[in-house]
Amino acid sequence: MADKRDYYEVLGVSKDASDAEIKKAYRKLAKKYHPDANPGDKEAEAKFKESSEAYAILSDPDKRRQYDQFGHAAFDGGAGAGAGGFDFGGMDMGDIFGDIFGDLFGGGSRRRNDNSPRKGANLRARVHITFEEAVFGCEKELELTLKDVCTNCNGSGAKPGTSASTCTTCNGSGRVTHTESSLFGMVQRVIPCPDCQGSGKIIKDKCPQCGGSGYTSSRKKISVSIPAGIDEGQSVRIRDKGEPGTNGGPRGDLLVEVIIQRHPIFQRQGTNIFSTAPITYAQAALGGDIRINTVDGEVIYTVKAGTQTDTRIRLKGKGVPSLRNSQQRGDHYVTLVVQVPTQLNEAAKEALRTFDRETGNSLEGNFDNLNEEKGKKEKKKGMWDKVKEVFED
Ligand SMILES: [Zn+2]
Ligand SMILES: [Zn+2]
Repeated sequence: MADKRDYYEVLGVSKDASDAEIKKAYRKLAKKYHPDANPGDKEAEAKFKESSEAYAILSDPDKRRQYDQFGHAAFDGGAGAGAGGFDFGGMDMGDIFGDIFGDLFGGGSRRRNDNSPRKGANLRARVHITFEEAVFGCEKELELTLKDVCTNCNGSGAKPGTSASTCTTCNGSGRVTHTESSLFGMVQRVIPCPDCQGSGKIIKDKCPQCGGSGYTSSRKKISVSIPAGIDEGQSVRIRDKGEPGTNGGPRGDLLVEVIIQRHPIFQRQGTNIFSTAPITYAQAALGGDIRINTVDGEVIYTVKAGTQTDTRIRLKGKGVPSLRNSQQRGDHYVTLVVQVPTQLNEAAKEALRTFDRETGNSLEGNFDNLNEEKGKKEKKKGMWDKVKEVFED
């Protein structure tokens, strides 16, 4: 016992640590060293035991006081200590581990009353919608198999006129005490009764309509209102369309996840829409009206003379409505891409040659002044980054 580590040291907390700090420290260690997470690792097992022992003492106000006063001597030899030095036998392991491990390892030792009203499980479904349906919202109809309480037996599962008898294994409590050996010796925990599956009742004459389950299943049509502005992967919750509750509890909910089809020209980021629009070289150089597709239909946009390729314009308020406030809409950003013609007739070619001569814009001429070229490029780059607010509806 001489080399036994200080319990506070084991948990890595100070002598005046609060209960919450102690619990938090232990949770962290228990998660790290739990045998389920470290199968066959003797060192982890020892650490787990050590930290569990420290927690068992420090989480109990009386024991903590004794420990603070007498140290390990408080629990050595004397009253109730086992041969191994520390005695877990007299402690309620369920209380210690119930809330620690309840949500940590899937509720193995969590206590619950299986006869109390419980909300039914949530159901999940998916619905596929178009880009525009996500932008403006829509109504969709889903067909699902839903469970209902059997109307023939009112959910008892027993043939009408008969009734279920009390399970003799658990005397109707729905729970049995299960004893199993663990690292600390025998540990008792309460589990749902295996004979009646926690219902506390045994049905001899089963209801013919539901086969004793107390539930019937049927296909049902459910309409779903998809709100404007919903985004990929978000779900719509429909109350009371999940599994029926047990023992008079409410139904669970139906969670409908939205899958949005890709749009051929629009892309979305949050409430903004992005697309590209082609413009001709002449439109870019001379300016002019072009048609741009938006989710509200075509709009006419006047391209400024001297527009460079990849200029991004903003169509204010032509984006996706905010899910919280459908009056607020994002913007539609359009990248104008100057198209270089690939098929030219002789007249067009001649016109371009004339144009080239008139503007003096030959390659040789440009190579003569590389520094000037570089300056232009930098200027152009700045323009790409800049988002221009040039359109308002
Ligand atoms: Zn029935
Ligand atoms: Zn039972």
